Amino acid sequence: MSIAQTKADAATPPVGTYRAAVVHDFHSPLVVEQVSPPELQPNQIRVKVEASGLCHTDIHAAHGDWPIKPSPPFIPGHEGVGVVVERGSEINEVEIGDRVGMPWLGYACGTCDYCVSGWETLCLQQENMGYSIDGGFGEYATAFGRYVVKVPDAVDSFDAAPLTCAGVTTYKAVKVAGTRSSDLVAVFGVGGLGHLAIQYAAIAGGRVVAVDLVDEKLELARDLGAEFTVNASRENPAEAIQRLGGADQAIALAVSPRAFEQAYGSLRRGGTLVFVALPADNNITVLNGITIVGSIVGTRTDVREVFELHEAGKTKVIREIRPLEEVNQAIDDVNAGRVAARVVFQL
Ligand SMILES: [Zn+2]
Ligand SMILES: [Zn+2]
Repeated sequence: MSIAQTKADAATPPVGTYRAAVVHDFHSPLVVEQVSPPELQPNQIRVKVEASGLCHTDIHAAHGDWPIKPSPPFIPGHEGVGVVVERGSEINEVEIGDRVGMPWLGYACGTCDYCVSGWETLCLQQENMGYSIDGGFGEYATAFGRYVVKVPDAVDSFDAAPLTCAGVTTYKAVKVAGTRSSDLVAVFGVGGLGHLAIQYAAIAGGRVVAVDLVDEKLELARDLGAEFTVNASRENPAEAIQRLGGADQAIALAVSPRAFEQAYGSLRRGGTLVFVALPADNNITVLNGITIVGSIVGTRTDVREVFELHEAGKTKVIREIRPLEEVNQAIDDVNAGRVAARVVFQL
C-alpha cells in the first residue's frame, strides 16, 4: 500500500445508514427507506451517488421478469454516477474524489476467453449492478473498482447516467452493426435508447431513418439527426424503408415481435439486423444473406468512448430529473410511454 493511498483511506468519511429504493418482492412497489452500508471488500469502492438513470432493465429486475432473477431485497440501478468516497485496500484504479459511472457490467472474472478477448460483457462469471449487486438507486453504492468508468469533468452527472447504459448499449449496437458512411440505418423505437442510437449512427456517417408510433418522438428524432422518419401507426415501416432502397442496418430497440418483423422487413439484401432487446418468441428465418446479431451493453472501453463523444459535444442526452421518492410513479410513466427519453433520479 502506498503512502498516498493510506492517506486517502484515512481521510475517508464514515458512511452511516442512507436512503435507497429497495425491491422487497416482485409484486410490490419499491420502498424508499434507510439501509445500512455493506462492508467494503478490498477490491471495492464506495460511491456517493449523484444521479441514477431508470432503464427498462430496472423495471424487469423489480418485477422479476427474467428467468435468472435477482434475490430481494435488492437495490436496482445500473446508470449510477457519483463520487468515490471510500476505497478498499487493493484499489489503485480510482482515487477518492473521482467521479465514476457504475454500469451494468459490475464485475467480470478478467481471465476467461471472453474477458481477455475484449468480450467481457459475455463473461459467465459476471455480476451486474442493480441486479446481483446493489445498484445506483441509493445515496451510496458499492462497486468493484476495476469495473467503474471515470466520468470526464466536462460531462454532467445527469448526462453521464443515461450514457452509462442507454448510451453504451446503442453505441455498441452501432459498432456491431458496422455502420459506415452512406449506409442507411433504420432505428426502431425512439426513446431512452433510440434517441442516442440515432446520434451514434449519424456520427458513424450513416443516414438515419427513425421509426416510432408517436409523432413527438419522431420530431425529437429529426432534431437529433434522423433524415427520415416513419410513423408505424400510419404506415408500414418495412415498405416505407424499402422505398428508400432498404436499410443496410436495422437496430431493433422496441421489444414487440411486430417491431422485429418490421425491422427485418426493412433491410436490403446483405443487410444486418441488430437485436438489442429480444422478445420472448420470434421466429425469423435467415434469408437473403442477412446477418442477425445480438448486442448486449458494452465494455469499459465502450463506456469511455461514449463519455469522450459527449465531452466533445457530439451527443445530446434527453432526460428529465426526478427525486428518488418518485421511483414508482416514474416506472408507471415509463411503462405508459409518458417519458420522452430517460428519467434520471437525483440522489
Ligand atoms: Zn440498462
Ligand atoms: Zn470472464
